Amino acid sequence: MKYYSTSNNNLKVSFQEAVTKGLSPDGGLFMPQFVPKLEKTFFDNLDNYSIQEIGLEVAKLFIEDEIPTTDLKNIIDDAINFDAPLAELDNNISILELFHGPTLAFKDFGARFMARTMSYFLRNQNKDVNILVATSGDTGSAVASGFYGIDGINVYLLYPSGKVSDIQEKQLTTFDKNITALEIDGTFDDCQTLVKAAFVDDEINAKMKLSSANSINIARLIPQSFYYFNAYKQIKNKVDEIIFSIPSGNLGNITAGLFAKKMGLPISRFIGATNSNSIFTEFMKSGKYEPRPSVQTLSNAMDVGAPSNLARIQSLYNKHEFILKDIASNTHNDSETIEKIKEINKKYNYIIDPHGAVGLLALEQYVTEEKIDNYSAVVFETAHPAKFKDTVENALDITIKIPEALQKSISKEKKSIFLSSDFATFKDFLMSR
Ligand SMILES: *Cc1c(COP(=O)(O)O)cnc(C)c1O
Repeated sequence: MKYYSTSNNNLKVSFQEAVTKGLSPDGGLFMPQFVPKLEKTFFDNLDNYSIQEIGLEVAKLFIEDEIPTTDLKNIIDDAINFDAPLAELDNNISILELFHGPTLAFKDFGARFMARTMSYFLRNQNKDVNILVATSGDTGSAVASGFYGIDGINVYLLYPSGKVSDIQEKQLTTFDKNITALEIDGTFDDCQTLVKAAFVDDEINAKMKLSSANSINIARLIPQSFYYFNAYKQIKNKVDEIIFSIPSGNLGNITAGLFAKKMGLPISRFIGATNSNSIFTEFMKSGKYEPRPSVQTLSNAMDVGAPSNLARIQSLYNKHEFILKDIASNTHNDSETIEKIKEINKKYNYIIDPHGAVGLLALEQYVTEEKIDNYSAVVFETAHPAKFKDTVENALDITIKIPEALQKSISKEKKSIFLSSDFATFKDFLMSR
């Protein structure tokens, strides 16, 4: 399978090159030349497959010609060493808990898989690879945790100062060894701009080998499609109307779902749920992409003003009306989010985090407007509620028990390097390493 750049369909590279480069030199994102179809026998046997077995069948079709099946199996078994259970709220709605990995957010799936495929490809290289990651909260710790202690790989995490939760900041800044946290005096979009600028800077690239690990890396997306199949397998009340509601920011998760659908999974609708950073929702309405600076919300991992993966979605569909057939999008603000957290706890005795709450709100609006009453919806719970302890505790007037993994990073001391958001400062820093 070859991978093309969304900026130039004629530029085609191997999977290895797509993974190690991250972003195409022309600024485009890498996409598989076509989305492969899974055999009917795969779907017939789906109930018997574990998430790792599903992963192998899916990943094989994308990478089999470059990573032999036995190696790929080892990568998947090692990366996805946790589960993604479905919690049923009622007859119509289930919550897909994607927070059972080491950093308690769905990004563990993509980051751990990417780290292992990257180090697989780099196993015979003698030059260090430097991974630059802009993070609005959860990406950084998942990527760092995925790469932690791997020889020959240095990771630089750029996060917006004061704009991630205290717990998220601890998770970002308490690594040592090959992980360095850079606290940027700016927004997430500033962090993303710095990373993008470094990739196209000749001097930096002449000095060091750079790679990206944001959701723009294709190796993050492939494993994110695994859990769509695994969720489908667990739905008890399978009706014709299968809806997945995805709390969205950079649109990586929803793009992975579109892959799953094209591979043959019968999903009737995706809902791209946005917070007040509603660029995608507006794009869906008007057909126009109008990025703008992000604003801070309670669901801060979705605070993205210029969603990168939109380029991939547009590349999968050649007409706006086709996107509208598969995806709906609704936006909901912080006060609605708080009300939803309260309501879900009261009604179902379930604690949902602010991101999952936005997913539930967008689903509810969709089924109300479309007057659908018999459906099977899967709402992604993208992070553990303890990661947003203050918000959830204030909403529910309870004390949340912090999982042990998280407790460990909270007790460590923060270590970060503070930098302004101008590119010259960042460049100086990188050139001095
Ligand atoms: C990253 C993240 C999102 C947004 O996912 P995208 O793939 O960027 O759309 C939603 N929720 C949480 C908790 C996240 O960490």
